[in-house]
Amino acid sequence: MLEQNLSERIKQFKKIDAHSHIGYFGSWCDVGITPEELIDQMDEYNVEKSVICTYPIQDSLDAVDKYPDRFVGAAWLNPMDPNCLDILKDAVKNHNFKAVKLHPLEQAYCPNDECVFPIAELAQELEIPLMIHTGHPPFSLPWSVGQLADIYPDLPMVMIHMGHGNGMFIQSAIDMAKKYPNLYLETSGMPMHTKIKEAYRDIGSDRIMWGLDAPFHHPAVEMLKPIVSGLTDEELEDVFYNNVKKLLKL
Ligand SMILES: [Zn+2]
Repeated sequence: MLEQNLSERIKQFKKIDAHSHIGYFGSWCDVGITPEELIDQMDEYNVEKSVICTYPIQDSLDAVDKYPDRFVGAAWLNPMDPNCLDILKDAVKNHNFKAVKLHPLEQAYCPNDECVFPIAELAQELEIPLMIHTGHPPFSLPWSVGQLADIYPDLPMVMIHMGHGNGMFIQSAIDMAKKYPNLYLETSGMPMHTKIKEAYRDIGSDRIMWGLDAPFHHPAVEMLKPIVSGLTDEELEDVFYNNVKKLLKL
């Protein structure tokens, strides 16, 4: 499968990145990328658009306004912020944002907490999906996202990182997506290539999408996982491009 020059193979597929960031992240990780650096990287690796989120939201509003053909906004909301619903309305109406981003680990709540319900209800009204960080106890476990999916069966939710680095959480993300048809999976930071093919075949061909999570990961590494997972080229086009385009109506 990898007989072809690897860098050619990686660049061959047109992509939309379902989950990335701009800006500098200090603390434990010490990584960062400017909007222009991300666009250069997208050009190099055949990424047409990236769905970006920042907290606070201003940097992503500015970047989407400046590069509307390359960036799609996901509004990163903190449910504890009394203005979060107004922030979402503004982002969608005035900046064409296409999703809500929730990071329960970063902001210390569970995805099925009542504080999320008003955001879920507004997202449903605006007809945009939730994109929820998953993979870390106690605040971002796939089972809690499953409970939110049970409460709002008509609201699509993407489990960002599909359980992330822990095999048990990866499996639970897949199990929850099997149980709840409104759950979708995103691949960034998830190390098991086999689970990409398994999710595509067992859960649904339109319910798994590729993401980079810039600046945390290198595009070549993240792109290689679907490629070596055993999916056909046609199936890879769904994972790399078609599925996020359809879900976010891009
Ligand atoms: Zn991220």
